[in-house]
Amino acid sequence: MVAALNPVIPAAAFDPGVCPRLVVKIGSSLLVDAAGAVRTGWLAGVVADLAERRAAGQEIVIVSSGAIALGARRLGLEKGGRASLEDAQAAAAVGQVALAGVWEQLLGQAGLTAAQLLLTLGDLEDRRRYLNVAATIARLLDLKAVPVLNENDTVATAEIRFGDNDRLAARAAQAAGASGVILLSDVDGLYTANPASDPTARRLPVVEALTPEVMAMATGETRSGMGSGGMAAKLLAARMAGAAGIALAICDGRVERPLSHFANAGGGTLFLPPRAAKGRKAWLAGRLTVNGTLTVDAGAAAALKRGASLLAAGVRAVEGRFKRGDVVAIHGPAGELLGRGLAGYDADDARAIMGLRNEAQAAVLGYAPRAALVHADHLVLI
Ligand code: GLU
Repeated sequence: MVAALNPVIPAAAFDPGVCPRLVVKIGSSLLVDAAGAVRTGWLAGVVADLAERRAAGQEIVIVSSGAIALGARRLGLEKGGRASLEDAQAAAAVGQVALAGVWEQLLGQAGLTAAQLLLTLGDLEDRRRYLNVAATIARLLDLKAVPVLNENDTVATAEIRFGDNDRLAARAAQAAGASGVILLSDVDGLYTANPASDPTARRLPVVEALTPEVMAMATGETRSGMGSGGMAAKLLAARMAGAAGIALAICDGRVERPLSHFANAGGGTLFLPPRAAKGRKAWLAGRLTVNGTLTVDAGAAAALKRGASLLAAGVRAVEGRFKRGDVVAIHGPAGELLGRGLAGYDADDARAIMGLRNEAQAAVLGYAPRAALVHADHLVLI
């Protein structure tokens, strides 16, 4: 469902009073120019905006891309350092040093203290490490520092990386306890079609639900070819943020002082969170890696949507090797992702009892069955 509201409303959702803690993500193509140098003047304007917000009482966490683009230039690598994973890792190692220096300098000039956190996917997927990251960010904010996050691209491998900072920003927002994320981008929001080729395309100021129609509006391409996100990654980030009760806006970073511009003139696309999941459930919803998949029938899918636990009787297929307590994806009869949950059984036992009613399970298991395969308390719908 898409509502056309007053264009100023998206920005108002990120006012300090409404959103005491904000994550601002800055894309590579805004931060680094075509020749591979930092756009220091523009970035100083962003920092001035951030300093104003801080003075108004809003806590700020920055997610900064740009390491790969900056390092590629210094190393003379082709394709912006993205020709291979090894190139990207090497470029990030070199570029991150420069990037940290830029933030230290610009935030310092505005009287703010920069703090660097380089995170891998695993740091946010493993519950204990996630809580550790959350505690570090909370402490830094207590100390009035400004955390500047990036993916630790140098040690991340293809299988265990976010690959785009849009989703990293959404995930980090959960860890930071933020209620809003602003993705500063080289596009001014989500359009109904590609505005470059379709004159009827129009920008959506507010998206209330990420329906399949909305998801289909995105492509994975980036305009600059410099970052790695594209609109598809931004919509996934919006979904991830929304599942944790966090509002997310994509807004135009190509103007000077983009955050003031957004606050005064509106624009962009605001994705409203569908529900306010908290704590363990929010973490579950945002996980990218799962240990297995349970496919359920239509009756079970409907019951889950009413808030019920997942019973073995409604499970049609069990895939993967997981242990009790591992995270599993729950798919509907057509293979669509319904949610995630913590498995109540190891994969083998789950396979043995799928399709069986509770009274028939003991004979197969050799012990008294639990009430559910995935309990409602350990389950989150996506
Ligand atoms: N982490 C990458 C970098 O610093 C950027 C990822 C992205 O393009 O979103 O270069």
